Amino acid sequence: MDAGPDPRRVDRCLRALGVTRVPLLLLTHFHADHVAGLPGVLRGRAVGEIRTTSLQDPPEQSAFVRRTAAAARVPLLETVPGDHRRIGPLSWRALWPQPFPTPLPEEPNDASVTLLVRSGALTLLLLGDLEPPAQQALLRAHPILPPVDVLKVAHHGSAYQDPALLARARPRLALVSCGRDNPYGHPSPRTLAALSTGGAAVLRTDTDGAIAVTGAGRDMRAVPAGRDAL
Ligand SMILES: [Zn+2]
Repeated sequence: MDAGPDPRRVDRCLRALGVTRVPLLLLTHFHADHVAGLPGVLRGRAVGEIRTTSLQDPPEQSAFVRRTAAAARVPLLETVPGDHRRIGPLSWRALWPQPFPTPLPEEPNDASVTLLVRSGALTLLLLGDLEPPAQQALLRAHPILPPVDVLKVAHHGSAYQDPALLARARPRLALVSCGRDNPYGHPSPRTLAALSTGGAAVLRTDTDGAIAVTGAGRDMRAVPAGRDAL
């Protein structure tokens, strides 16, 4: 899910994990910090298909993804809302954006494809960069959204998080993806405090480095590259 801002970094990360085949690459939305790394994912790897959100904005980044996918001859498809798939013990459902006739969100962040993922006994909610209006609409559209083990915190841990969504997701582990010394001040101390108060162990890639999640249930562990496992 997502390619990050830098082709070299995502390539290095996938190489370190021994990933040579990517059956599905999902790009949550077209901001450069999610799609500019795409050539690095494609480098020397067999990628089965690329799926995106349906809001083609910003247009120049959307065009970049189309060009890059076409040059690599990888099929490029929009995520169908409600799309669900299962591969072995892994299954996922696209919760957002909402299907037609609901109008598409006008802001790229709010058009982020949001997935509820089950991997064996582990449940993960991946929110892309959703902002509070879309977070609230997501909750209204899915009134029985279950609590999850792992939350990929929306929008790099920005200050703008819907408290009701955090309370519903009630994650045991909250992962914040953000760049070191980023100019936006992500993650927000307020968001980190809200997650901890809600009972989550919080890890962040700017200080913890790459984070792997292993096991499930009481054996679930987060293994950050930068320090000891939690
Ligand atoms: Zn972003």
